[in-house]
Amino acid sequence: MDLPLRAVAWVVGVELAAATLVFLTVEGAPTSSAVGLAALLAGLSVAHTELAIGIERTRRRTAQTSYFDLSSVWTFAAALLLPPPLTAAVVVLVYAHLWHRVWRPSKVPLHRHLYTTATVVLAAMAAHAVVEGAGGLPSGPADLAGVLGVVAALLAYVVVNTVLIAVAIGLSRRATALAPHDARELMGRWDDNALEIATLCMGGLAAVALGDAPGMVALALPPILVLHRAVQVRHLEEVASMDAKTGLLNAATWQTRAARAVGAARRTGTGAGVLIVDLDHFKAVNDEHGHLAGDDVLAAVATTLRAAVRARDLVGRFGGEEFVVLVEALPPGPAGRAELGAVAERLRREVARLAVPSVGGGTVIEGLTVSVGAACVPADGADIDQALRVADTCLYAAKRAGRNLVRVAGTARIPAPRPAGDVLGVAVER
Ligand code: GH3
Ligand code: MG
Ligand code: MG
Repeated sequence: MDLPLRAVAWVVGVELAAATLVFLTVEGAPTSSAVGLAALLAGLSVAHTELAIGIERTRRRTAQTSYFDLSSVWTFAAALLLPPPLTAAVVVLVYAHLWHRVWRPSKVPLHRHLYTTATVVLAAMAAHAVVEGAGGLPSGPADLAGVLGVVAALLAYVVVNTVLIAVAIGLSRRATALAPHDARELMGRWDDNALEIATLCMGGLAAVALGDAPGMVALALPPILVLHRAVQVRHLEEVASMDAKTGLLNAATWQTRAARAVGAARRTGTGAGVLIVDLDHFKAVNDEHGHLAGDDVLAAVATTLRAAVRARDLVGRFGGEEFVVLVEALPPGPAGRAELGAVAERLRREVARLAVPSVGGGTVIEGLTVSVGAACVPADGADIDQALRVADTCLYAAKRAGRNLVRVAGTARIPAPRPAGDVLGVAVER
């Protein structure tokens, strides 16, 4: 486990807090009806997971955020109905089963799963406290306070869970400061959150049904399985937007998202930059090492490019051995141009450092180089298509000038011999 110490301390602290709080809320032996209810909810969760297992496994492998879990329908219902120790028992059973059937086979680290279990226990305890504070579950048609209590408990569950997860992710980062846009990443995508809330609504309904007619709770199962279908649609969308060979955005998706990002940048008066990155003499790599090794090189270059830019920058495979990067939030004017040149130069250097083991493991492919064409929005083009055309012209200029070069639109055209440090914003030769 490669986590900073502060993250480890936080994770262990939260887990201990969950265990302590559960221990402190133990009040004698639970009633047999409460134990029966807990067993029913845990059993329904097992049935739910087993029925949805195929969908859930593929989702976990591809989901960007993996802490949203449709099992909260059962854990939230438990939180509303049962005393905290029994709720914790349901959560532990549900998560032990999920670990056994879904998470472990998907190679999710155990420490992450344990932390998730602790956050769910704490979220459930918060929800329980809120609904108790509001006077318990709705007791009749006129009990508006009871309904509001369930809604408030739902919000408490979401907030506690989301904040605990976000803090852990934030502390796990090596970077010391978080940019404001990272909040989006920490809080999860809005449709993930919508899915979680829909699941909790089902949990609330299930809890109310359980109070009057326990058998009715089985009716929650089909809608939850249909919600899983919605998750699968999302999974298919992700697959459809991806280039299978490199895991980057495919050309169509990159172009759509880049156009949207550039539009937003224009509205807020910030700049953006486009890079086209083309492997030099890639045909020779294929000829010498074979196409499968060539594919490994493409994947390695893709990983390098992705790692060398910020999370919000869009990296796509444009075609064959050509990649595109949208560098967002650049200052407008010459400063933006210089920054874009620096990013391009970093990418060029990182690729030149690559050593890719070729298929079969016999040899290592080294000496890979790229040529990069760069253009700014709005300085070189009003929209993404115009900027791409300018960047493409720059790319060809870099190729003509000898390859393994960066050429930024609107800067000196004469390739200058490189002094000790890299010259940014002009053609850079090695
Ligand atoms: P230049 O420096 O001018 O860019 O030379 P180049 O050889 O990289 O460019 P060229 O356009 O002549 O050749 C591109 C090569 O990329 C030819 C094609 O076989 C290879 N290629 C395109 N897509 C793939 C792929 O998915 N896998 C592999 N292995 N090779 C690919
Ligand atoms: Mg090429
Ligand atoms: Mg090419």
